[in-house]
Amino acid sequence: MQTRLLPPTPEALGLAARLIRDGALVAFPTETVYGLGANALDEEAVRSIFAAKGRPGDNPLISHIAHMDQLGPLIAADPAPAAVKLMDACWPGPLTLIFPRSKRIPDAVTAGLDTAAVRMPSHPVARALIERAGVPIAAPSANRSGRPSPTTAGHVLEDMDGRIPLILDGGPCDVGLESTVVDFKDGVPRILRPGGVTREMIADIAGDCLVDGAVMRPLKEGERPRSPGMKYRHYAPKGALTLFAGHSADVAARIRREYDAARLEGHSPLILALEGDLPLYGERRTLSMGRDAHEAAQRIFAALRDADQLQADVLFAEAVTTDGIGLAVMNRLGRAAAFHIEQV
Ligand code: AMP
Ligand code: MG
Repeated sequence: MQTRLLPPTPEALGLAARLIRDGALVAFPTETVYGLGANALDEEAVRSIFAAKGRPGDNPLISHIAHMDQLGPLIAADPAPAAVKLMDACWPGPLTLIFPRSKRIPDAVTAGLDTAAVRMPSHPVARALIERAGVPIAAPSANRSGRPSPTTAGHVLEDMDGRIPLILDGGPCDVGLESTVVDFKDGVPRILRPGGVTREMIADIAGDCLVDGAVMRPLKEGERPRSPGMKYRHYAPKGALTLFAGHSADVAARIRREYDAARLEGHSPLILALEGDLPLYGERRTLSMGRDAHEAAQRIFAALRDADQLQADVLFAEAVTTDGIGLAVMNRLGRAAAFHIEQV
């Protein structure tokens, strides 16, 4: 199959909407990362998402809507009061909510769970595509399973060339990390996956916010996570990654030592550091994570792809603060490092 890469002109959006209605896959930009979309109500189309990504069938998908009228048919009961507050305040935006599901959603979307994940994205191209297709669009990140999520159309092409007919190129993604996933099983919002809508924002809006324990640690033997995606080692770079947390001068001193020792052992190490810390590493090979946690969110997936291109076999990264969007950055970095985090 030939993969076309097109800017989101009205003609390209018309073609994309037709492809979705015909049961084909289209990659499209959202404010979080690029999504790989199919008609969420078409079981066979949804199955082809799993095939194109190599995604395990027990990892459910998020359904994307453009209007509130599209929510009702997907869910089984009225949303909890906290969910209503969050939708009012954060939709459209990078927030996914978990609801009891209706029978209209195929099992392939929810991986057989009795709940469904729904999000209303804010990206104009994503919204235009959903509107024109006239159906909710099920879409995971448009990477091959286990690869960092794509934040540019070029990343999508790297992973999906020849597997899907069309990629809409809307430029780099704004947030750079996948949406915040929240459930309400305890009556209180609980973050299953941190993202652009932060714990602090949710607590402000809904009065309270829990963070699931599995966000910042590996799963225990036999543990069944609330979010099946937590089971899988995502975003894994080819090199072995270790994170270092502490005061920046101490962290830099430790990373310099580790880097130099790795070089002596014949490795090809690479350092991921905040922009302001780069001078601390002298001539050593570094990639910038940007100036702060917000920029780190935008850049981290591209940096992990770059690390592979540079053939780094050992990676050392500075931890960032877990405040605000920093929690999402540390969750992704932590998982890329299999939670190998050292306190300096
Ligand atoms: P992705 O689409 O690749 O960003 O992944 C979607 C994420 O949402 C995965 O981590 C899923 O485990 C999670 N998810 C989707 N549906 C549900 C659900 N019904 N309950 C809990 N987590 C879900
Ligand atoms: Mg993904």
